[in-house]
Amino acid sequence: ARQFTRPLNDLANQWNTLLSAIAGAERVFEVLDEEVEAKDETGAVTLSKVEGAVKFNNVSFSYDKGGDTLEGISFEAKPGEMIALVGPTGAGKTTLIQLISRFYIPDSGQITLDGRDLSTIQRESLRSHMAFVLQDSFLFKGTIRENIRFGRLDATDEEVEEAAKLANAHSFIVRLKDGYDKMLDADGSGISQGQKQLLAIARAILANPAMLVLDEATSSIDTVTEIKIQEGLQRLMQGRTSFVIAHRLNTIRSADRILVLKEGKLIEQGSHDELLRQGGFYSDLYNGQLKRAVMQAAMNEGIRG
Ligand code: ADP
Repeated sequence: ARQFTRPLNDLANQWNTLLSAIAGAERVFEVLDEEVEAKDETGAVTLSKVEGAVKFNNVSFSYDKGGDTLEGISFEAKPGEMIALVGPTGAGKTTLIQLISRFYIPDSGQITLDGRDLSTIQRESLRSHMAFVLQDSFLFKGTIRENIRFGRLDATDEEVEEAAKLANAHSFIVRLKDGYDKMLDADGSGISQGQKQLLAIARAILANPAMLVLDEATSSIDTVTEIKIQEGLQRLMQGRTSFVIAHRLNTIRSADRILVLKEGKLIEQGSHDELLRQGGFYSDLYNGQLKRAVMQAAMNEGIRG
């Protein structure tokens, strides 16, 4: 996940310079474009409305033209579906999400959004229909209100608070001494990891995109905040096509489709029940690693509680 979050963190660091330029969210992405990202094709179009149907057709990709990092990936996400990506570290989950976000372009095969090849869509336009909630979602030096408003810069204070309520962030914010006016550093010191995530969810709700990219936190978060996050995420994902690098069993089980990646290949896909019935890699993972992780977490809770 490192390669993915790094550019976004750089972005946050550049925020202060950009504030004065009255930058739109799309504008902010331009800063990155120069360095790391795939360029637009000439004649690339903008999309005013997105349904959120995403299709991978035999997509392969490698970072350095060595071996394929992803190989022959095909799947479909219908508008509003939640797709969970699972598999061992290095399997290609982050890479797949970077292709959907057009940080990179496939070497072969095709990715379409609402039937249109992704490479024919202007990157900024694509991004304006997406929101990201990452393990380390970026914060910048500014108030909590400004940090949420980053989702949509013309939002009113009322809209910011409405989004915070839906995200389950409002109650912790109003308990802070300065409430929505509390100043945050770029590293968000003064609020917890879980609270940072609630802010990221509020920001994404405010942005109201058709598509979401989530990298679920692996770090342990207290149970109460965790429940708030789960609830906030449920509301956020409702009616949006969501791609989740999932670490929580609950998330994985509630996915419309689970994509099981291993060494760059999509080895299984289906719902939790379907995959368990197949008795393959996912089933093994679930019965071994995942169950153990859940039991371990439960035990830790028991010890702490
Ligand atoms: P996952 O998210 O499942 O852990 P990644 O998509 O991050 O997997 O990584 C898939 C493979 O691609 C790994 O072998 C990783 O080392 C490699 N990789 C990831 N990012 C880059 C990069 N920017 N340049 C070269 N190789 C990379």
